Amino acid sequence: MIFGTGIDAQEISAVQKLVERRPRFVDVILTANERAVFDERKGKHQWEYLAGRFSLKEAYSKAIGTGIGSAVHWHDLETDYTAQGAPVLVKHPYDKQYQAHISISHTGDSVHTSVILEDMASLTQPVSSHRPAWLEISASALAHNVAYIKELAHAERFMAVVKANAYGHGLPEIVTVALAAQVDGFAVATLDEGVWLRHFGVTLPIYILGVTPANQANILADQQLTAIVPSLNWLNEALAALTVAQKLPVSIGVDTGMGRIGIRDEAELLATVQTLQAAVDKVDFQAIGMHFATADGAGSDQAYFEKQMARWHALVDPLDLPATVIKHQANSASALWHDQVIAHDMVRVGAGMYGFDASSGVLEARATQPVLSLKAELVHVKQVAAGESISYGATYTTTEPTWIGTVPVGYADGYARLLQGADVLLPDGQRAPIIGRVTMDQLLIALPTEYPVGTVITLIGQVGQEEITLVDLADRLATIPYEVATGLSPRLPRRIVN
Ligand SMILES: *Cc1c(COP(=O)(O)O)cnc(C)c1O
Repeated sequence: MIFGTGIDAQEISAVQKLVERRPRFVDVILTANERAVFDERKGKHQWEYLAGRFSLKEAYSKAIGTGIGSAVHWHDLETDYTAQGAPVLVKHPYDKQYQAHISISHTGDSVHTSVILEDMASLTQPVSSHRPAWLEISASALAHNVAYIKELAHAERFMAVVKANAYGHGLPEIVTVALAAQVDGFAVATLDEGVWLRHFGVTLPIYILGVTPANQANILADQQLTAIVPSLNWLNEALAALTVAQKLPVSIGVDTGMGRIGIRDEAELLATVQTLQAAVDKVDFQAIGMHFATADGAGSDQAYFEKQMARWHALVDPLDLPATVIKHQANSASALWHDQVIAHDMVRVGAGMYGFDASSGVLEARATQPVLSLKAELVHVKQVAAGESISYGATYTTTEPTWIGTVPVGYADGYARLLQGADVLLPDGQRAPIIGRVTMDQLLIALPTEYPVGTVITLIGQVGQEEITLVDLADRLATIPYEVATGLSPRLPRRIVN
């Protein structure tokens, strides 16, 4: 986060005149090292240099917020040049707290400077960019899935669900490719995720699918984030808390059988709609929606799906809603498998957009494409003799001389410890088993022959005809692909590929 900014401008000729009157001024402004640079320069370049340092030190003191002489003095600051010739601050009194970004420019008789101080405490975790282990995000697969689902569900609007770091895929990367795929809005779970999206520059509608505490209504309105109204009480509290000029965007949540959040009662729903219509100057009544509990199941779950549909009709059909209010019901499963969903205004899609099967293989396959691959390079390769044990607990012992590859991915990356024994894919499409325990940051594979260090291993994804999907891993772990995906750690760099 930015701590402070400072800008300053000086007239070069005025600085020169000052020095001609008071020659000692040069040493007041410049440190000994800077003075040496000053002495080397001749004529106009000398005055440009001095005016530049003078102005920059003024700008720094403004970024700190005090002005020169109290929190920062002239000699606390020293500049030098990078190998490319750009000026840098090599010494400043707050270098443990703030990173300083500086800029100096000369035009005619003036010099302009700017200093931006970035708070290092806000860089909460190391950025991952140099690891030989990464996630690839396929922009074309995501674009295909968006267009395919929108068409299949006859949906007018496609809302991309990007809660939980975009299902572990990486929020900035997924938002970037989803915008390119022309989605119509985003949905997240929490207020902070929504605020992050606004800071990232998203101007499309953003729904907060979870309950946002009513006393945070001002933040919702200020950032134009659409709140789900889970009850009449919530709405009244939010209206009472609202003091900002912007209208609070809302979507009524109707609980037809999911049993999580939303209004279940006819009278309460009617009163909520009336309250919204009486408060048109304070709220923007955008939508009304529900969520299915069983749309991805098989067999008897169809009955529950229909029960939820029937409750929706009973509760919502009698309401006299403004024509602009959007009705939305479908998540991935209902959009992909149920054509009797009546609300074609908008679908809210996560799993299907990421291209994993929300039914975990229970329902017939749909033509979506996986967006995510997990890859890593072999960082170490060796042959061990028969009878050698590999990894913690010595749970695996070779029975013959074996080539072993070390892959820099572990359970801290979200590749679960229980995946010992699962396969990975080699570049020629062969499968290689994970041997021994998966450790925090590394795992080991048995190679059919020697492979060079740097060989790319695919842990999730497709190589030739072979494929390992999130669903395959979820099956091994007795869970659902959502849990495997959301467990993928921010420590893995994300790369957008075509
Ligand atoms: C998470 C969520 C979705 C998206 O579900 P998918 O199965 O990933 O498509 C849609 N609606 C609500 C209310 C959700 O919480």
